[in-house]
Amino acid sequence: MIIDLLQPAPMSDPVSRELFARASRVIPGGVNSPVRAFRAVGGEPVFIARARGATLTGADGRDYIDYVGSWGPMIVGHAHPEVVAEIQRVAEAGTSYGAPTEREIELAEQIVAAYPSMELVRLTSSGTEATMGALRVARGFTGRDLVVKLEGCYHGHADYLLVKAGSGLATFGTPDSAGVPAAIAGTCAALPYNDADAVAAFLDARGDEVAAIILEPVVGNMGLVPPAPGYLARLRELCDRSGALLVIDEVMTGFRVAYGGAQSLYGVRPDLTCLGKIIGGGLPVGAYGGRRDVMSKVAPLGPVYQAGTLSGNPLACAAGLKTLEILRRPGTYEKLEQSSARLAAGLAQAAREADRSVVVQRVGSMLTPFFTDAPAVRNWGGADRCDRAAFGRWHAAMLREGIYWPPSQFEAAFVSLAHDDDAIGSTIAAARVAFRAV
Ligand SMILES: *Cc1c(COP(=O)(O)O)cnc(C)c1O
Repeated sequence: MIIDLLQPAPMSDPVSRELFARASRVIPGGVNSPVRAFRAVGGEPVFIARARGATLTGADGRDYIDYVGSWGPMIVGHAHPEVVAEIQRVAEAGTSYGAPTEREIELAEQIVAAYPSMELVRLTSSGTEATMGALRVARGFTGRDLVVKLEGCYHGHADYLLVKAGSGLATFGTPDSAGVPAAIAGTCAALPYNDADAVAAFLDARGDEVAAIILEPVVGNMGLVPPAPGYLARLRELCDRSGALLVIDEVMTGFRVAYGGAQSLYGVRPDLTCLGKIIGGGLPVGAYGGRRDVMSKVAPLGPVYQAGTLSGNPLACAAGLKTLEILRRPGTYEKLEQSSARLAAGLAQAAREADRSVVVQRVGSMLTPFFTDAPAVRNWGGADRCDRAAFGRWHAAMLREGIYWPPSQFEAAFVSLAHDDDAIGSTIAAARVAFRAV
């Protein structure tokens, strides 16, 4: 396994080490989601005690500037006072009813207003549920079974989607999960990202079996990989020709790369969209929606079943609505763009000064420094050729310098509104030290 190649980087503090040992006795690998374990960088995780703004505080009281942002949701910063106050206010009125509330309508209305392709939207409790729901309705609507995904994209942990699924899986060198029946895996075909000809050829051969093509419009889950010019438009055309639905998974990019997501940035109209992360403001949420005729197949309107005890949870809707309200204020995306551009340029410059071959890729407030001498990373093949051991050493050095960077070469870093000039400046200074230490 890849992890055995990495030199140990026992960077975590004694308090975290003790907590990790305790956790490992009762939780598989000591964590409740694999990438948190730091195995991809050869270390052990820092346990977190609290967070505020751009700062995470470890269990031993040490502060870090955070670029994980809970893997995307914390775009307005941790423990934003307005979000916290709203959650507290709403909690006083009860935390779940299992019955409809006005707040769910408000969140659905905000989503529909920002994503005109989403005419009807269903709320879930996670991004995984959103992609499962979207693809079930795509299959129910088309009467076809096959789904096409693109290598390196991650769409949650549904059985048939754990095929060449980026980050967590790529990190562990398991392109496929145990426990997935071959017959189920066989209902999903994985093709290379940024290669519309490969999709065209596949659809020529088997187009009448394909219910949907699902992809990350800007990939965050193999490290940050933008779509090639014209790629999304070409997929739209290919779907129209074959009758497959275009499902854009904006769980990570929605309200992140632009308020209207990647679909507004690149001008593509999907049949179905999946959301999550930011729309829950740090509480568990997902959503899927799209064309009215397609979404009208969802129960209780139609025959495609999907449900959830906590779907549209009052606290999650409240945190999400407040987060979206803050994001709609003037200048937010300009600020995110400015600080992220400065960070990306600073990282590239620091790498050059240290004579390190690194290419920094960025869309909005998502970015990745790839340890590669290729001019760009365009697909999973390119990402997979990066020097993970060098990334691991860089990650450990950044942590020593007080920067909490995503613990994998195949994860995007997230900048929030709470990352001010000082935070970005300190991060670039830390990167200068870290690139020299690689
Ligand atoms: C995070 C993510 C998911 C899964 O969301 P969960 O809430 O973790 O289930 C799906 N798709 C993409 C693109 C994601 O980044």
